[in-house]
Amino acid sequence: MPWKALDCDSVPASLMKIHEYQGKQIFARYGVPVPKGEAAFNVSEVGPIAERLIAETGNPVVVVKAQVHAGGRGKGGGVKVAKGGAAEATSLAEKILGMQLVTPQTGPGGQKVRRLYIEQGLDIARELYLALLVDRDRRQIAVIASTAGGMDIEEVAHETPEKIIRIHIDPVLGLAGYQVRQLAFALGFGGKEQLKKFSALMTSLYAAFTGEDCSLLEINPLIETKSGDIVALDAKINFDDNASFRHPGWEELQDPDEEDPVELEARKAGLSYVSLEGDIGCLVNGAGLAMATMDIILHSGGRPANFLDVGGGATKEQVSKAFRMILSSNEVKGIFVNIFGGIMRCDVVAEGIIAATKELGLKVPLVVRLEGTNVELGRKLLDESGLAIQSASSMGDGAQKIVAATRAAKA
Ligand code: ADP
Ligand code: MG
Repeated sequence: MPWKALDCDSVPASLMKIHEYQGKQIFARYGVPVPKGEAAFNVSEVGPIAERLIAETGNPVVVVKAQVHAGGRGKGGGVKVAKGGAAEATSLAEKILGMQLVTPQTGPGGQKVRRLYIEQGLDIARELYLALLVDRDRRQIAVIASTAGGMDIEEVAHETPEKIIRIHIDPVLGLAGYQVRQLAFALGFGGKEQLKKFSALMTSLYAAFTGEDCSLLEINPLIETKSGDIVALDAKINFDDNASFRHPGWEELQDPDEEDPVELEARKAGLSYVSLEGDIGCLVNGAGLAMATMDIILHSGGRPANFLDVGGGATKEQVSKAFRMILSSNEVKGIFVNIFGGIMRCDVVAEGIIAATKELGLKVPLVVRLEGTNVELGRKLLDESGLAIQSASSMGDGAQKIVAATRAAKA
């Protein structure tokens, strides 16, 4: 996430990522200039695509690009230029498709390349940086631009912050003409023709950002070609998941191969789940209680393994699914159930926990803090289940108990 350095790391956890080629299809729909290209899922498709592109553009150069949900592909060997026509494109595709691509954003294990994008090669005069994102502190869409494009923007922000300009768009007024001109000049676009092109580009990008409910739209690099055109050479789009109800088309854009399998499973079950780095699994209801639970675990010296909110009115099946997900993680060395039963009944929670544990067994310490509707019945069910459960009298008590038990179990 490149925004830490700009202290704008407000990208929400609930975002959805898509591939470059899908982003470019969206750009094209909004009139943002992109190179011609086609996606390929097999090496055999690459030759014909390259031939078509070469015939259409009259340009013998094509670029073979790995499609994974991570940036920095070029440096990792996932973007290669073919000057030798369809044959060279095919042999590059053979190397890239199926490779384990390691970039600064994939983690050390890398990401397997299952899709390629074959696109027209362009003559680059300048590589620039342009992004739109939701600045949650300002409650506005921010545009970030820099002439230092094509490289790690976080590094640019850190070492040469003066090379980055940032403007905020008033949601009522929209993108104003003076702002477009300010950006154009900062990016070195002078002259009437270029100003016109850049202005059209910005208008299209803003329409795409708002129309598609993006949380991030990043073009790195935006290029000026040797013939003076302005083209989006890369496309990174994140959607704000909260708007999924008005975008039925998003489902088709999802690529399950690129997602955390556990998070995917959770989404299907209607649970809100995020994997974290720690070792204490948490089962909680309500986002606020989930946050508070993570805080209190950290405060007590432990580290949460996940954020799992079963929601206000989960069923026994959902609770049991959620608990199974926690139980099956190898990282989890202890489990803290922290439930306040309002609409949610404590006996339903207890039944879900018991069902999941019967199936998978309980190999790590479990601390349960139940409060609220049907709490007596819930406690009774757990007591009679024969499970080795420590009960907690309060949230703070529970956090301390699970941190201590996890530590003891690891020692
Ligand atoms: P990533 O950011 O994941 O490394 P990019 O799409 O930005 O991937 O590509 C990396 C670099 O490859 C670009 O900065 C550009 O120099 C070059 N490149 C990418 N696509 C093309 C293209 N169609 N024509 C010419 N050069 C390209
Ligand atoms: Mg890039």
